[in-house]
Amino acid sequence: MIGGGSQVVVQSMTDTDTADVAATVAQVKLLADAGSEIVRVTVNNAAAAQAVPKVSERLADLGCDVPLVGDFHFIGHRLLQDFPDLAKILAKFRINPGNVGRGARHDENFSQFIEIAKEFGTPVRIGVNAGSLDPDVMVAKMDENSRIAEPLSSEQVENKALVESALSSAEAALDIGLTPNQIIISCKVSRLPQMVAVYRELSNRSDFALHLGLTEAGMGQKGVVTTTAALSTLLEQGIGDTIRASVTPEVGGDRTKEVRLCQDILQAVGLRRFRPSVTACPGCGRTTSTLFRELAQDIQTHIGAKLSEWRVRYAGSESLQVAVMGCVVNGPGESRAADIGISLPGAGEEPRAPVFVDGERVKFLSGPNIAIDFIDMVESYVESTYGG
Ligand code: SF4
Repeated sequence: MIGGGSQVVVQSMTDTDTADVAATVAQVKLLADAGSEIVRVTVNNAAAAQAVPKVSERLADLGCDVPLVGDFHFIGHRLLQDFPDLAKILAKFRINPGNVGRGARHDENFSQFIEIAKEFGTPVRIGVNAGSLDPDVMVAKMDENSRIAEPLSSEQVENKALVESALSSAEAALDIGLTPNQIIISCKVSRLPQMVAVYRELSNRSDFALHLGLTEAGMGQKGVVTTTAALSTLLEQGIGDTIRASVTPEVGGDRTKEVRLCQDILQAVGLRRFRPSVTACPGCGRTTSTLFRELAQDIQTHIGAKLSEWRVRYAGSESLQVAVMGCVVNGPGESRAADIGISLPGAGEEPRAPVFVDGERVKFLSGPNIAIDFIDMVESYVESTYGG
């Protein structure tokens, strides 16, 4: 369920040739197992359209029931009409109003697409992109702008055109017979301030569910930082019902990183919990060794390795908060605030580490096995708190 006060949904998209059923099944499964709650696949030709029902069937055989979304451009209306099995199994259709023809043909193709969604009761994402904005809308907005006394900048005009294209398409879909809760809107741009401005405008002007994404965010740290900043800004203001991180993986890289990024963003802004969190200080001149960094890393690795098991055996353990701190300055305070925390000895301190559980100091650890002993205590805490 997207929108209507439901929790924000994580989604992703495959980059396989959809017609390659085995590869697409494998990647959808990978993304779903990583936590993607919706997976979008490209449906760009007849071969892809024929493959999607097979992909769905094989996923079901594997016990994977993640909803599949068809990403359509240019000929979606024809593919959905020619391949009713495709229309039947998709959980959502994505249409880009800038890519369905121009003038009367645009209206005809758009109507045909929406009529099929109406017939199957399928939600539709009206996904506008700056890179493929409906040229008729843009031209109209530019003309309008040239006639006003103080013309807007070209970016402001583009923002208006993006919002206008999305909202007028949504209105047209309502006129054809879709219900408001069948419509999800996105307006994707690749620059953060523009994205924030556009979504604020959308949110002010309509109640449709919103799909957030900073399109073409890029690779590596740049992609992660800009996506995080853009999505967090909007989510923190209560804007957004489903999110996707459009980061570019390295060649041969891990496609599921985009899923993890979405989860981490939602967890960081406090909207959802997916995994236990480890609070660790950065270390400073008071840190006499790398012990606390090693311990923080060991804990993080241990939690990562145990995550799937904990999810099954210990419901609620995703809320666990662990602290691993480097000295007495902030160590006891942060450790007390966590569910379980350890304050390692900094320079000049006694070589023993107080451990705090639920705000109370319960023990001192010392010697070469501090890491193992603390991990054992974390395990016991998880079992006693979330077991049964
Ligand atoms: S808790 Fe201590 S070691 Fe960690 S950053 Fe603060 S002062 Fe430095």
